[in-house]
Amino acid sequence: MRKLVLLGPPGSGKGTQAVKICEEFGIPHISTGQMLREGHLADPELDREMKSIMARGELIPDYLMNEMVKERLRKSDCINGFVLDGFPRTIDQAKFLEENVGVDYAILLDTPEELIEERICGRRVCTVCGGSYHVSILTTNVCPKCGGELGTRADDTPETIRKRFDIYQCLTFPLIEYYTKLSKLVDIDGSGSFEEVTKRVINVMRSLK
Ligand code: ADP
Ligand code: ZN
Repeated sequence: MRKLVLLGPPGSGKGTQAVKICEEFGIPHISTGQMLREGHLADPELDREMKSIMARGELIPDYLMNEMVKERLRKSDCINGFVLDGFPRTIDQAKFLEENVGVDYAILLDTPEELIEERICGRRVCTVCGGSYHVSILTTNVCPKCGGELGTRADDTPETIRKRFDIYQCLTFPLIEYYTKLSKLVDIDGSGSFEEVTKRVINVMRSLK
C-alpha cells in the first residue's frame, strides 16, 4: 500500500512531483486545489463562494475539505494507494485523515524560500485540463497534454502568494511535527531542478517499499 501525502509550501512543486510519483507507482494523483478549481462542490452558490476564498489565497473550511477528500478516497482507483497533494493543510484535516483512512508516509518537499517565488511566478495552468507547468519546460503557450490554452492562476498574484505563504507557516507547517511524531515524515531536499527532485523522491520511495 502506498498512501502518501505531499507536504511543502505553495510553489514547492508538489503538483509536479505528484504526477511523477503516480506514474512510477500507478496510483492516482489527488490534488484538492485542482478538484476545487474544477468545481467538485456540487452546489453552484457554494462553488462561487469557495472560488472567491481561493482567489484571496485563504483556506476552504475544514469540514468541506474533509468530506470532499473522504468521498474521493472511497473511489475504487484508490484501492492500491494514492498521492494527496494539497491535503491536509491543517492539523484538523490531518487528524481527520488519520482517523478515517490513515497514510503510510508524508513526504516533505523541503524547498528554500527564494526558489518558491520563482516557481510560482513561472507557473502556467491549462484552461482546459487543469495541468500545471513551469515556463522553463514549455516551448509554446499550449498545454503539452491536451493542446489547451495556458494561463496563470487567479491566486498567483504577489499579494496572494504572500498571504498563502503566511497561512502555510501558521496552519500547515505544524503538520511537519505532527507526522514526525507519528514516524511518518520523509524529508526530501526540494532544491535543484524538477528532475533532480523527482529522482530523490523516487529513490527514497523505492527504499521505503
Ligand atoms: P498550491 O499548489 O499553491 O499549494 P493548490 O492548488 O494546492 O495550491 O490550492 C489552491 C487553493 O485551494 C488554496 O490556496 C486553498 O484556497 C484551496 N485549497 C486546496 N486544498 C485545500 C485544503 N486542503 N484546505 C483548504 N483549502 C484548500
Ligand atoms: Zn491541458
